[in-house]
Amino acid sequence: MNSEKLSKRLEAVASFVEQGAILADIGSDHAYLPCNLVKAGKISKAIAGEVVKGPYESAVRNVRKKGLSDVITVRLANGLEAIQEFDGVDTISIAGMGGPLIASILKSGMDKLQNVKRIITQPNIHSLSIREWAVQNGWKIIDEQILKEDNKIYEIVVLEKGQAEYDELEMVVGPILLKQKSEVFIEKWKQESDEWKRILAALDNAGDTNEIEERKKQLQKNIELIGGVLKH
Ligand code: SAM
Repeated sequence: MNSEKLSKRLEAVASFVEQGAILADIGSDHAYLPCNLVKAGKISKAIAGEVVKGPYESAVRNVRKKGLSDVITVRLANGLEAIQEFDGVDTISIAGMGGPLIASILKSGMDKLQNVKRIITQPNIHSLSIREWAVQNGWKIIDEQILKEDNKIYEIVVLEKGQAEYDELEMVVGPILLKQKSEVFIEKWKQESDEWKRILAALDNAGDTNEIEERKKQLQKNIELIGGVLKH
């Protein structure tokens, strides 16, 4: 992968960035996503935020190499601290991290979200954390995508401001992904469910402390919840 040829996963993230957006890509690593979008003419300005020095330097080098230093500002910063008010950022992308980390970045940076119209997240695991953050903080899910690349399954959850209610199943699997029920979606939840069943069986021989009983109940509940999806 490079900024000319994005991975299928980042290509899908890029597809949710609207024409003319001012983007802050948080956890940008090599800054492939903002470089690609500027080169494609989809956006004219972006911030690339990175908290770790190595990836930050790699983003700076890459942006310079592409001749984009005037339009892509790379900042060494934790989460949304990379965004300044005068940047005029209206779109944030946060891709390639766990859902809980993405949710914690959003939670810590709430003051930076006033003028943001769209947040594009690509959690590697546990997208539930992002949906929970969204409903608790006045954001709704406007789109979702699930895809498979190199034998890994990825989800994308796109948020805009607004109120919405989702039931428990929709929160876990995604309201839009649930409606679409793609082959990859079924594959993901079959894998998860099989893994839960495996853990449950292992816990049957692990004693009967309260903690284990609670864990077993939770697993049984999840297996039942997802069982409905896999049946139809
Ligand atoms: N976004 C790119 C992608 O999807 O291909 C890079 C993903 S990489 C696996 C995750 C990046 O997020 C790492 O470079 C890491 O240093 C950065 N990161 C993790 N926590 C961060 C935070 N709180 N603020 C900014 N960057 C962060």
